[in-house]
Amino acid sequence: MISMTGKAVLVTGASRGIGAACARLFAAAGADVVLNYLRSDGPARDLLQELPGPGNHLLAQADVSSEAGVQGLFDAVLGTYRKLDVLVANAGIWEGSPIQDMTESDWERTMRINLKSVFLCCRAAARIMREQKEGRIITVSSTAGQRGEAFFSSYAASKGAIISFTKSLASELGPLGIVVNCVAPGWVDTDMAASALRSDAEARQTIEKAIPLGRVASAEDVAGPILFLASPLARHIQGEVLNVNGGSVLCG
Ligand code: NAP
Repeated sequence: MISMTGKAVLVTGASRGIGAACARLFAAAGADVVLNYLRSDGPARDLLQELPGPGNHLLAQADVSSEAGVQGLFDAVLGTYRKLDVLVANAGIWEGSPIQDMTESDWERTMRINLKSVFLCCRAAARIMREQKEGRIITVSSTAGQRGEAFFSSYAASKGAIISFTKSLASELGPLGIVVNCVAPGWVDTDMAASALRSDAEARQTIEKAIPLGRVASAEDVAGPILFLASPLARHIQGEVLNVNGGSVLCG
């Protein structure tokens, strides 16, 4: 039903977790996918080989928290596809500490990787999509950005800022033909959440009990709504924060 044939899609943080699930789903829908990653060279290469028509896709190692990294990444995208139809700004880290112990460099690292990266990628995408007079941007926030998260205050702040940034771009870029939305996952069973979900069965049960649907999301559970927001089915949805959290946080 959803066809992305001929679409050039950039997924940041595509080597693992939600980004890798997005890469698989977009490629299955016919898209040409740019797989960005930072360090996981082996998994990214394996993923590329797993995708249908590996020659249609592009591996792009780049640090999206750096202006030079993002410049190089977008040069590679334009050099290969001459356009960008969809940006999925997904790359991120989840690091925390009690506020009393949080250092300035802890705070800046989270802001740089989670928030500045989204600014840099959205700015680069907007420059291309403005010329095309169309494009889709999907950012990835978190329930932490909606309700806060004890001991992860910098992470929550970065994710809350992504929501207001997304809404701002939705108003600003809509008149240029650019559709901008956000997905806000709750717990997702990826490497990022392994310390909370995979090491202690009792802790996982406690987490699951707090989710009305009674389960933790898989990466695929989040990739589906991202594909939907990138598809023609979502053409009139703008500035939305789509919760993918099993009902655990009921706000948009
Ligand atoms: P993950 O499994 O830890 O994967 C993170 C991805 O981001 C990896 O591909 C990693 O690349 C990439 N990355 C990190 N820093 C980067 C940088 N500076 N430049 C380029 N790529 C970078 O995480 P995930 O669970 O899939 O999370 C994806 C997004 O969903 C994040 O924004 C996260 O905050 C959000 N989210 C996750 C959860 C959850 O419970 N998992 C919940 C809510 C929101 P390498 O492999 O090369 O390091």
